[in-house]
Amino acid sequence: MKKFRKIGILTSGGDAPGMNAAIRTVARKALDEGVEVVGIIGGYSGLIKDHIIPITPRTVSNIISRGGTMLYSNRCTEFKTEQGMQKAIDTCRRHEIDAIVAVGGDGTFRGATDLTNRGIPTIGLPGTIDNDITATDYTIGFDSAMNTAIQMIDCLRDTCESHARCNVVEVMGRDCGAIALGTALASGAVAAVIPEIPFDEAETITRIRTLAENGKRGFLVIVSEGVRTEDGKKYGEVLAKKIETETGVETRFARFAHVVRGGKPSLRDRYTASVMGVHAVEMLLQGKSNLVICEIDGRIEAVDINYALIADRYYKNKLMPGDLDAFSAEQIAAMEKLAQKRRKEVETIYRMVAQTSK
Ligand code: ADP
Repeated sequence: MKKFRKIGILTSGGDAPGMNAAIRTVARKALDEGVEVVGIIGGYSGLIKDHIIPITPRTVSNIISRGGTMLYSNRCTEFKTEQGMQKAIDTCRRHEIDAIVAVGGDGTFRGATDLTNRGIPTIGLPGTIDNDITATDYTIGFDSAMNTAIQMIDCLRDTCESHARCNVVEVMGRDCGAIALGTALASGAVAAVIPEIPFDEAETITRIRTLAENGKRGFLVIVSEGVRTEDGKKYGEVLAKKIETETGVETRFARFAHVVRGGKPSLRDRYTASVMGVHAVEMLLQGKSNLVICEIDGRIEAVDINYALIADRYYKNKLMPGDLDAFSAEQIAAMEKLAQKRRKEVETIYRMVAQTSK
């Protein structure tokens, strides 16, 4: 088994609260095991630009409670090119980096696979507020983002009630409605509008009109940013205008955007980042790589990255020709089971929002 003497840590893609907790834990656990640690600044671009810093236990002091990422993040298209990849590998060789822990989303994991295939064993930690990585029940940052969103939604709820208004709120999530769905249920919104389930606009508008006629004063509707009109416009703002015109209830629109990406990580995110970080280092010390650390039914488990990436495309109906070729019938059946589980989770919460918003 290969003995790791030095590992690098990077954070890549969209930042998420809890990334600092992950950096801290990975660094402290590796150092505790006698492995040297370096930080790669600005995601994969740090490997291309040779921006590497030494990490001691003190470098990661006092970051566990901080949002953002002390290693900074970046979107780096050069890394996807052959030339960029070669520069990254050269930097790893120059600094004698034996392995990498990469915190980020699915794009980050594709980069991790490329590095592993070129001889730099890499392990991914799921860090994104969107909770949109199919292989894991949970991604670091989701809980904090939801808590930040819910605090702001509660503020809107107060003023909606005072003025007998409706507020349509757009939250992040890319093509995934998890943040919208969770915050809608937890804030008592009348509806969640998410990319995964066709939205019955007429039913919601009728329901708001009837409820208003029967004395309900405040209304909240949470829309995921991924929902678009037929001509490609973000749907939230369009829906707000329609609600006002068709129900007579004064309706405002709010876009939370990047606000929910910042702020202090919640206990859930610090805790999950910490246990996942320790697990990632343990896997590397056992000589394993090309894995993503997942939370599955409450357990922390390492899943093959290639499997995770294809399972993700399977669930999102984004499979490309040949994607399933490398997988056995059992693995494909497991992907189908996972996709069904995810669909059921979404449908269950969606139904609960409708059932509890009378
Ligand atoms: P996320 O990791 O949150 O999904 P991105 O999709 O922006 O965010 O990916 C983060 C970074 O990962 C990119 O800027 C790029 O450097 C790297 N990356 C993304 N896709 C690939 C790919 N197909 N091959 C290699 N690297 C990739």
